[in-house]
Amino acid sequence: MITGRVLLLNFSYEPLGTVGVARAVCMWFRGKVSVEEHDGENFLRSPSTEIRVPSVIRLRTYVNIRRQRRETTMKRARIYIRDKYRCQYCSDHKHAKDLTLDHILPRAQGGESTPQNLVTACVPCNQRKGNRTPEQARMPLLTPQKNFNIGLDRVLLCHYAESRPEWKKYLFMDEFESDELIAA
Ligand SMILES: [Zn+2]
Repeated sequence: MITGRVLLLNFSYEPLGTVGVARAVCMWFRGKVSVEEHDGENFLRSPSTEIRVPSVIRLRTYVNIRRQRRETTMKRARIYIRDKYRCQYCSDHKHAKDLTLDHILPRAQGGESTPQNLVTACVPCNQRKGNRTPEQARMPLLTPQKNFNIGLDRVLLCHYAESRPEWKKYLFMDEFESDELIAA
C-alpha cells in the first residue's frame, strides 16, 4: 500500500501529477493538502493510529507550477510510457535503462526536442539511425508521428488511472492544457 501513487491536484482541482503514498500522508500531516478521495478501505496502521490511504489529494493553496521545468524532467519517462517502452524502430520491448530518446528529425538537421519529435529507441537503433531522418536511414517509425500530438501529462496520468477509477473524474474534467504543454 505504501508503494502506491496518489493523484495530486492543485487548489483549482487541476491535476499536477502523482506523489507516493508516504509523501501524500506527510503533506496531509503538515496541513498542506486535503484528502479528496480515499483508496478504498485500505488503511495505514501504526501501533497508536490508523489512517485511510489517500488516493486523491488537493493542495490547500494554489500553486503556480512552472510547467516547463516539470515537462523537462518528466519528459523522458512520459515518452517511454507513451511509446509503451518499445523501440519505435525495431519494436523491441526494453527496460528504461536500455532505452534512449531519438530525435526523429535529427538535431543536426534542425530537429527540436519536443514530444512530437522525440521517440523511444533502443541504443543500437539510435546509433544506426545517427544524424538521419527515418526516411534517409530507411528505418520507418512503428507509430505514425502525428499520433504523438497529445499532451504527455495526460499520457502519464491516464496510464496510472487505468487502475484508479476514482481519479477519472479529475483527469477528464478539462482538456488538460495539452496544447500549452506541447508548445512549451
Ligand atoms: Zn531498436
